[in-house]
Amino acid sequence: MNDCCAVPSSTGASGIVVDRRNPNLNSRCSTCEKQGRPVGRQTILHHVKHEQLDRVNGDAYRYCADPNCPVVYYGDKGACFTVDDLREPVAVKIQGDARPICYCFGFSEGDARKEIERTGQSTIPATVSGLIKAGMCACEVRNPAGVCCLSEVNRTVKRLSAEHQASVHILGVQGWRGNSTS
Ligand SMILES: [Zn+2]
Repeated sequence: MNDCCAVPSSTGASGIVVDRRNPNLNSRCSTCEKQGRPVGRQTILHHVKHEQLDRVNGDAYRYCADPNCPVVYYGDKGACFTVDDLREPVAVKIQGDARPICYCFGFSEGDARKEIERTGQSTIPATVSGLIKAGMCACEVRNPAGVCCLSEVNRTVKRLSAEHQASVHILGVQGWRGNSTS
């Protein structure tokens, strides 16, 4: 598994700064009050719109993963970047076919849904995990969450497969009822 899939815990090449004396200081999102995950300055610079670049400084930043909260990044000194400040949609904060599930290789929820509807399964998890194993991913900067895309890919494909199975089952039952009454 590539380095990008490890959860960073301290100052590293990605520029993540964690205050060891007071790790919980301002570690919660001021909007939803949930605990965010530390995220590097480089990741934020890769995702905010260019007019926001000047606002990214040396603060310790965190990523808010709450699906109902508009905040994506917040700093320990009160800085805040919402979904409107980012160039791309954030996977956990939108729904539907346009939702990105793998930022490194450009797969969307729609790609997975269409493949599952057509063939009953998806090759996307195998493709993505193969490329990750070959060291070809760049999740730490490409994914706004700063973590590996694969868990989101797997979660989404599992949900879409279950939805597809349920719809096939319903259609099957309706077809059977239709036949029995005719
Ligand atoms: Zn939040």
